[in-house]
Amino acid sequence: ESKRARRGGYHFYSSRMNAAIGARFELAQELREAMDRQEFHLLYQPKVAVSSGRIIGAEALIRWASPGRGVVSPGRFIPIIDEIGLGVRLGAWVIDAACAQMAAWDAQGQAPIPVSVNVSAAQFHSGEIVTQVRQALAKYSLDAHRLELEILESMAVGDSANANATLSALRAIGVGIALDDFGTGYSSLVYLTQVPANVLKIDRGFIVNLLPDARQQAIVERIISLAKVLHYTVVAEGVEERGQSTLLAAMGCDVFQGNLFSKPVRAEEFVALLQAPPFVTSIDG
Ligand code: C2E
Ligand code: MG
Ligand code: MG
Ligand code: MG
Repeated sequence: ESKRARRGGYHFYSSRMNAAIGARFELAQELREAMDRQEFHLLYQPKVAVSSGRIIGAEALIRWASPGRGVVSPGRFIPIIDEIGLGVRLGAWVIDAACAQMAAWDAQGQAPIPVSVNVSAAQFHSGEIVTQVRQALAKYSLDAHRLELEILESMAVGDSANANATLSALRAIGVGIALDDFGTGYSSLVYLTQVPANVLKIDRGFIVNLLPDARQQAIVERIISLAKVLHYTVVAEGVEERGQSTLLAAMGCDVFQGNLFSKPVRAEEFVALLQAPPFVTSIDG
């Protein structure tokens, strides 16, 4: 009886595992096809200057419009893309598409809009990122200062000599480097003095808990003041409430990004936001 139950349990576990592996395999196969069928597109989320309420840039965020699954978010498919060896190729596409969009906005007569793109771990460590950036900037005749790359702490910490060489090469071209999801990694604040980056994005997790938690306020306040001493531009991501923006403005935050201002939108909608009056960034501003 107990032997049978154990065997049954093993059987159950094993078939569940097979199902999970099968589902992942299927997703991987669909992603390979998605590359060739061009099922990816970018959305743009405004970055708003705290001082003026004006849009000073955009973060490009990828979406996969899958014929079978609907719109899939990058949190689900980017890790698999990297795992199956497509990170470099998709990363090149993202940089190219973001640069193409900047050039298209320029051609429409918009004031130059800077765009930041996210970089996957595989793309960053491939060593091809510098070439990808150079090629895209040249192809669309863009000033390097228009482009910013968002990287995670974890990418720069592991293999810090190589990572810093890559980041320094990108900074030398003139491209901006933002530390995304800052505060979620394990590195100390000393990291900020060593990594060649110029923008710090405070992770949404801190912002969510800002109002109810005085300890979070103390942490965020100190991150912001240290970052300012080190000449970083400080971006708060995931700002959803007026109370958060008012507090962050008082703490000296430079830039807001979040659904309080706008969720990520299509390029055409982004242009409409540029034409609208400035946002209110704090209660007295
Ligand atoms: P991230 O770079 O930290 O991007 C911010 C995420 O927060 C985005 O999710 C954005 O839609 C979401 N967000 C912005 N404001 C708010 C808010 O007020 N409330 C809430 N709840 N969420 C907000 P998304 O677009 O699903 O992207 C998730 C992650 O996927 C990104 O995190 C980034 O790490 C990665 N990713 C996105 N696009 C790309 C890409 O083109 N390439 C690579 N390699 N990774 C990407
Ligand atoms: Mg990002
Ligand atoms: Mg982030
Ligand atoms: Mg994130």
